[in-house]
Amino acid sequence: MSELRTPTAAQATDELPPVPEWSGVAPRNPAPPPLAPRRKTRAVQVGPVTIGGGAPVSVQSMTITKTDDWAATVEQIHALAAAGCEIARVSVPDAKAAAACVKIKEGSPLPLVADIHFDHRYALAAIDAGWDKLRLNPGNIRDAAKVREVVKAAAARRMPIRIGVNNGSLAPDIVERYGHTPEGMVESGLRHLRILEELDFHDIVVSLKAHDVRTTVAAYRLMATKVDYPFHLGITEAGTLRSGTVKSSVGLGLLLAEGIGDTIRVSLTADPVEEVPVCWDILKSLGLRERGVEITSCPSCGRVQIDIVKLAEQVERLTAEYRAPVKVAVMGCAVNGPGEASMADVGIAGGKGMGLIYRDGVMVRSLPEAQLLAGLREEIEKVIKERYPEYA
Ligand code: SF4
Repeated sequence: MSELRTPTAAQATDELPPVPEWSGVAPRNPAPPPLAPRRKTRAVQVGPVTIGGGAPVSVQSMTITKTDDWAATVEQIHALAAAGCEIARVSVPDAKAAAACVKIKEGSPLPLVADIHFDHRYALAAIDAGWDKLRLNPGNIRDAAKVREVVKAAAARRMPIRIGVNNGSLAPDIVERYGHTPEGMVESGLRHLRILEELDFHDIVVSLKAHDVRTTVAAYRLMATKVDYPFHLGITEAGTLRSGTVKSSVGLGLLLAEGIGDTIRVSLTADPVEEVPVCWDILKSLGLRERGVEITSCPSCGRVQIDIVKLAEQVERLTAEYRAPVKVAVMGCAVNGPGEASMADVGIAGGKGMGLIYRDGVMVRSLPEAQLLAGLREEIEKVIKERYPEYA
């Protein structure tokens, strides 16, 4: 039989329990336990961004404009950059797109990856235009002399190539032997890799994407036992904003937690700008990168006496503009409020039509509900000035 507990005085009223004194000597809260060590990989250079070799896991996305409309494509790349994207992939599917490569490079604030299938001339156009990386499966270009031409040109510019295996487009003989399996994906990747290695080309990134999370995870795990090239992680055709976010977070999260993965893309059937914050939230949740404010908010319950849903949304909007990695807790009441607030730089705990503001778990202000947001902003700005002056 479950034990019924009598509410504490603090729970029964709107008062908060006293905050214990902090000596300031020992850390108030230890850092969360570390993940598995990152897999050791070669480093490749994509413009100013390093992939692998222990570099921070980078964030990628892909434009969905018609590439030959270079102005629209450049505009979308700017939108991706503003959202925090670090590398932009652009498909170069035809001669008109290839002709737009120079203009796109001139206008792009981000390093560019040319996504090429089959026709080596479009890869050469992107190389000539000074793009920064190719995504190309050499086995798909049937003529060995054409592969050699592309690889030689890429090597001359120190331009890496990503081999991108997709479980849906394995070669027929691989499907016959392995089926659409992690082993088949890895065999396909190794086959493309051998072509580049035989040409003494090693500036390679590998991706092994399936729409199924378990297949994708198993493929990357298996490939990690065979090569030391950095990995571009992604779940292909992951779905719409909600399902794609969940599948990508689970799949990429599993791998990243094991130390596997050097750059990521979340594929969503949505505006590509939506992909970028999802990537960042995955990396931030694992403590792999820091960017902008991290908000902890309670789900609300019968104890709440302020509009916590509205307040959390307002805090999210308010803090979207900050780049400093400030931790903010928005809690509905005094039950969990002080505890969560003690793990944040700034915290709010709601009371009856009012709220308390904490700094490092110490209550510093008590304000009516209508003034909470303004008070929170002031405290966040103080934290940025004191702890993250580079963002002030
Ligand atoms: S912090 Fe939020 S979810 Fe937790 S008890 Fe208080 S109101 Fe309920």
